[in-house]
Amino acid sequence: MILERFSHSGIQSYKKCPAQFKYRYLDKIYKKDEGIEAFLGKRVHESIEYLYNQVKSGVIPLADEILKVHRSLWKEKWHNRVAIVYQNKTARDYFYLGEECIARFYRLNHPFPEKVVANEHVMVFLLDNDEKYKIKGIVDRIDHDGNGNWEIHDYKTGKRALTQNAADKDHQLALYQIGLMSENSKIKSVKLVWHFIQHGIKIESKRNADEIKKVIQETKKSIDAIRSKVENGGEFSPKTSILCNWCYYWEECPSQSGTNPYIMSS
Ligand code: SF4
Repeated sequence: MILERFSHSGIQSYKKCPAQFKYRYLDKIYKKDEGIEAFLGKRVHESIEYLYNQVKSGVIPLADEILKVHRSLWKEKWHNRVAIVYQNKTARDYFYLGEECIARFYRLNHPFPEKVVANEHVMVFLLDNDEKYKIKGIVDRIDHDGNGNWEIHDYKTGKRALTQNAADKDHQLALYQIGLMSENSKIKSVKLVWHFIQHGIKIESKRNADEIKKVIQETKKSIDAIRSKVENGGEFSPKTSILCNWCYYWEECPSQSGTNPYIMSS
């Protein structure tokens, strides 16, 4: 098992359940199943990406156009392994939730004055310039005012929103800041911005040099822990929690038997 690079979501997955991390990132067992929350999140992200690609090229589309994009992406990408854990909800409920999210986001951000420089930007960078700590991230949106003031934007479609305190300690966007700093030399300031789209809330945060150093140290420590387990043949134990309801590795997991009963293909 070779681990060449890491991602924030991979490290988080290891912390939540080492066994699930192993199946997904080491054994590379891919399943076609997908929770409807993830499906919805992807379609909303793609619709907003379309919106800001238009904005970037100098065009402000109508809200109806974005809703139409969402509708056609939903239809085009739908498959019969999309799972709905909450049995009192239907696919239609989630589709309308996606529409509400997009309409709210549009209303709150119109007329889109942001100076967008990239959407869905893929970055691969090293921590402390060390090949052992290669990180990959995909940033939802990057804005730049042309004078060294940057913004890193992340869209969240889940039910939970971060508090200001949690956002100030969050590693995901701080890691993207490190990636941005490795890609650009002209940086005066970096603002981290989360859009909790179901709530219509925007949270902003900044990191100073010491905080960035701390994120680097803590991330390296997590990577070292994972790598040492891989190299020493350590155990990736299952950690059961409510999240098991959304896990597709019941067949592989020694803590479960059979297939996940909460997952019934829609
Ligand atoms: S079912 Fe639960 S314990 Fe087992 S791998 Fe999945 S998340 Fe981990």
